Amino acid sequence: MTCSSDTARLTDRFGRTVNYLRISITDRCDFRCVYCMAEEMTFLPRKQILTLEEIYTLAKAFTELGVKKIRITGGEPLVRKGALELLQNIGRIESLHELVITTNGSQLDTMAPALKAAGVKRINVSLDTLDSDKFKAITRTGDLQQVLKGIQAAKAEGFERIKINAVILKGRNHLEVNNLVQFAVDNGIDISFIEEMPLGVVSRHDRSEAYYSSELIKSDLARDFSLLASTEKTGGPSNYFKVAGTQTRVGFISPHSANFCSTCNRVRLTVEGRLLLCLGNEHSVDLKQVLRANAGDMDVLKQAIIDAMLIKPEKHEFNIHEQPVILRYMNMTGG
Ligand code: SAM
Ligand code: SF4
Repeated sequence: MTCSSDTARLTDRFGRTVNYLRISITDRCDFRCVYCMAEEMTFLPRKQILTLEEIYTLAKAFTELGVKKIRITGGEPLVRKGALELLQNIGRIESLHELVITTNGSQLDTMAPALKAAGVKRINVSLDTLDSDKFKAITRTGDLQQVLKGIQAAKAEGFERIKINAVILKGRNHLEVNNLVQFAVDNGIDISFIEEMPLGVVSRHDRSEAYYSSELIKSDLARDFSLLASTEKTGGPSNYFKVAGTQTRVGFISPHSANFCSTCNRVRLTVEGRLLLCLGNEHSVDLKQVLRANAGDMDVLKQAIIDAMLIKPEKHEFNIHEQPVILRYMNMTGG
């Protein structure tokens, strides 16, 4: 099997072009957020996860097939040993337009300058509350002050459009949406609110009861802010609004209340090297197997990626009111 051509593009059966790859580089994390992980997690043995070299080879193959944006995520990407070198190497791929990361912020305080030097363009930091006790309750192990220091360190490095990601859960942090937007405004950064997605079974947490829709958040925010609808698209699932009189944009990622699949431009590489064609389905191709069975053969790898586009599903199948059909946790796929 040979790759048809280096100018081949990744297009699926529904005419969508894939130009965005998200890579989970570790399943491990220093936090245990209630919506993401069980309290007691068993992590994968090392040989089951992609090596840093394999991740780089895959990133290279995808960029040769037209991928312009790569997001490094996890688990907590910055706790993987060698993460920085990997970012530096990916950052040097010429045809890549944007290298970005999603982090819980725990390591940003010390790593922000090195990330900037590695060519990381933008940083998303997960922050669900500004209350230390609630932060501890949601993350189980996290320290709010450490994350806030990290955000300041990233600001000091001058990263473009730092963004907070907040998963809003009824009864846990839904009363804080206004404070979070005020924090974003005060710091000149953006914020996206994410509806929880049913990935993996987590203990002592009922997802259906915790569901708090984007529409409810919008009406809460209307008490203090004027949100101006924006036509701006970032190529992602967020619907954006501008907070009037500020530079801050507020996004809503609403898999349940506003389906965004028709414009999906992304695929995900799990920590085990499984190419996942949709976050809310199990359609996938084992690229680690392709890579390890054909060491050094870029054409075979690229053809496998092109072929994988044929099984990208039309839309996700999330249903917040049912037990999850997707048994993998978010840390495997990186959100
Ligand atoms: N550890 C990093 C972090 O927390 O930003 C990167 C990985 S984390 C899996 C990526 C994003 O997924 C975070 O913003 C997190 O809040 C979100 N997330 C995790 N589990 C989720 C779930 N069940 N539903 C919706 N978002 C989730
Ligand atoms: Fe860790 Fe991020 Fe999952 Fe929280 S959401 S447990 S920080 S991977």
